[in-house]
Amino acid sequence: MASTIRILSDHLANQIAAGEVVQRPESVVKELVENSIDAGARNITVVVKNAGKQLLHIVDDGGGMSKEDLLLAPVRHATSKIASEQDLHSIRTLGFRGEALSSITAVADVEIRSRQAGDDTGWSLMVRPGAEAEIRPVAGDVGTQIFVRNLFYNVPARRKFLKSDLTEFRHISETMQRLALSRPDLRFTFHDGDVLVFDVRPSDLRERIAMIMSLDATHGLLAVDGEEGGITVRGYVGMPSLSRQSRSGQFMFMNGRGIVSRSLAHAVASAYEHLLDPGQHPVFVLHLTLDPQRVDVNVHPQKHEVKFDDERLVYLLVQQSVATALQKANVVPSFIGDAGLANAPLQSLPRSPQGAPFILNRLTGELQPAPSQGASWSFGGGSGGGYQHAPQTERPFTEAVQRGYQELFAGAAPSDSPVSTILSAPGGYLVTTSAEGIVVIDQQTAHERVLYERALRQTTPAEAAGQALLFSVRMRLSPSHGALLREYHDEFAALGFRLDVEADGSVDIHAVPSDVRPGNEEDTLTHILATLEDAGRLPPERRKEGLAGAFARRQAVRRSDRLQAAEQQALVRDLFNCTVPHTSPRGEPTYVVITFDELVQRFR
Ligand code: ADP
Ligand code: MG
Repeated sequence: MASTIRILSDHLANQIAAGEVVQRPESVVKELVENSIDAGARNITVVVKNAGKQLLHIVDDGGGMSKEDLLLAPVRHATSKIASEQDLHSIRTLGFRGEALSSITAVADVEIRSRQAGDDTGWSLMVRPGAEAEIRPVAGDVGTQIFVRNLFYNVPARRKFLKSDLTEFRHISETMQRLALSRPDLRFTFHDGDVLVFDVRPSDLRERIAMIMSLDATHGLLAVDGEEGGITVRGYVGMPSLSRQSRSGQFMFMNGRGIVSRSLAHAVASAYEHLLDPGQHPVFVLHLTLDPQRVDVNVHPQKHEVKFDDERLVYLLVQQSVATALQKANVVPSFIGDAGLANAPLQSLPRSPQGAPFILNRLTGELQPAPSQGASWSFGGGSGGGYQHAPQTERPFTEAVQRGYQELFAGAAPSDSPVSTILSAPGGYLVTTSAEGIVVIDQQTAHERVLYERALRQTTPAEAAGQALLFSVRMRLSPSHGALLREYHDEFAALGFRLDVEADGSVDIHAVPSDVRPGNEEDTLTHILATLEDAGRLPPERRKEGLAGAFARRQAVRRSDRLQAAEQQALVRDLFNCTVPHTSPRGEPTYVVITFDELVQRFR
């Protein structure tokens, strides 16, 4: 009987392999641009027609190929990048499998033109699936150009499987973005037919990100720089307000190679903690650098999955470095940072006929008794509360300061006029100006942020400034709330609650944080527990933030509340003293700045 097993022809074998390497036009772009980068190109141009189905044209000014190399390049497993098994364990190039050109030439008409420096002519190699390759001399610059025409025309199933031009183009465009972010030192030019999509010249990473992702790089990006055990992570993460509904703004690179890693994306996201709502994804562009021996890039034909020898170390490094970047980001509008003011914010006020001397803090509008009085204190902050929900009689000022305000503005304005102007606009917005522009603050999210950070700072019940209740309040909880309360017992205590939970689910409330209005104890506790329940189980180390977030959300002033001038002042000041003033714990913006530049534009 004749043998039924036979060895596939090279052509057929390549076509099968092509299915893994070349899945869509985007894969061709990725492989060919990676080849250009490996060839040392400084300028890389990509032109696509009909989402790459009709034509993909890649031009580079890299080292080029000799006639002999050119003939070998489309042969399967032909590569100049590794020679031995040893090399496979320390890969420094993007390619190494010698599969891309052989795969592409199996499923499209390909012309490769290349010229090496020193050669007096270039060569053009035409390769059509199943046909003999043809080579002839051509004129041309040093470097390589590749034309890929009619992709998958000989694989109808594959061609049918391609998505709409729009979708395929989007894939290509994402890959071009990733490549441009992988090497900001190279110039990338990208055309969709006649349309120039982008042309980015060599720059630093921050500028490259701004150009590629259309971000406001000066305000939106925070630098990340971490190192641990010979591994470095460098790059940028976006301010929480830049976060997206999808992962489209997330780029991770390992030794210049774009990689996909759910675990590292999670490491970044976990550093944002409560800064983001569920379903929001931070923006990041991070470059990991490590000894190539410590990572295996040969786990997937498309080479975007990698295996680190110490996954945990890399995870923690990324998480810590991003967390540090976020903590450092004490980004405040320049009315706090304005150089002139910041250097000399204090101004003595002439002594009023009746009163004591005062000092005006021009940054905050805060009045302080002059130091000669020996007193050194500031109002508002620290003492547990600040702003209350309803209009109330008590002001967070001491008598003396209040008198100071009245004296200062006697006759000029109502007695509670603010020193630095803050207007309240309908909808719960506070409007003020900075050196940069007009600052609009959302009082509710701003207050949430302030309460959240204050709650986080309290670590012991003693610091929590709880107020003991004259008559403790007794209430019953549902079994699940009872269980939650027991779980969070220490965290509630740190916040200023004193609670006795009994086995049957009844609770005695003996003390509550001073922000809680009398009569609202039960309501407050129920709401916080409901929020915690919605949030799902948190690991012990996250409980404190969970509770602080739930508490802040419950206690923050509402947009419909009218704040006293003094409360507005204190809120604005406290907000910009926060570590992360720009968003609420849930990631909503707390303020926006309309720059003077923008205003000028609009009046043109
Ligand atoms: P790999 O990149 O894995 O080596 P490829 O099939 O992508 O395999 O390329 C095969 C070989 O062709 C490369 O090793 C390289 O020597 C050569 N080559 C491919 N593209 C270029 C280019 N743009 N410039 C110079 N040489 C190239
Ligand atoms: Mg390659």
